[in-house]
Amino acid sequence: MRLLIMGAPGSGKGTQSRALTETLKIPAVSTGEMLRAAIAGGSETGKQAQLYINDGKLVPDGVIIDIVLHRLGRKDCENGYILDGFPRTAAQAEAMAASGMEIDAALFIDASDEVVTRRICGRRVCGCGAIYHTEFKPPRKDGVCDVCGSTLTVRDDDKPETIAERLRVYHEQTAPVIAYYREKGKLISVTSRDDVEETTKAVLDALNRG
Ligand code: ATP
Ligand code: MG
Repeated sequence: MRLLIMGAPGSGKGTQSRALTETLKIPAVSTGEMLRAAIAGGSETGKQAQLYINDGKLVPDGVIIDIVLHRLGRKDCENGYILDGFPRTAAQAEAMAASGMEIDAALFIDASDEVVTRRICGRRVCGCGAIYHTEFKPPRKDGVCDVCGSTLTVRDDDKPETIAERLRVYHEQTAPVIAYYREKGKLISVTSRDDVEETTKAVLDALNRG
């Protein structure tokens, strides 16, 4: 199955794609994670990307399209994938269609600006990939990762002043892409809940895998 996960920043795309990767046994490919790994690795791409990301802007289409098409061409994606964070602009959707990649469904995790802002403000992350929320998914010990014991941090682009810009960019550039998949009859919408497991259940039901 080739699945896209779409939704506003903070709607829970990353969390749900991880849950789905276990159930569907196909890899989750997250553009945000690939970019954060490039930044952490200090590559030239990472340095460029960081300037955009920390401003709440999108990384230029040319850069991200290359990264994603290369990644999806790898062997582990042969039997499908869950793509989180791409396509996010009309140009990216066109590049995907032009490359001959057909998707089975675009899963839209629907959440209001108010809800996602609350989510992002409380988000804490760990270098090992675990994600928490101070209120909705607190770690057992304050500020410490349940999985690996490292200190949790706030993502650079989760600062309050950047969140509003990310939402603006989402409505301007990504909402039309969601409408495009709706018109193609590929969109499956699920309302995001504050409870992660409940949302996963709704997602699996919507995909008929519940
Ligand atoms: P969340 O992780 O809460 O779902 P998000 O969707 O805004 O929020 P990521 O998907 O992790 O966050 O992406 C982080 C940043 O990486 C984006 O704000 C953007 O700058 C950049 N980015 C990710 N995917 C793309 C893309 N397809 N095109 C351009 N830039 C991207
Ligand atoms: Mg994400």
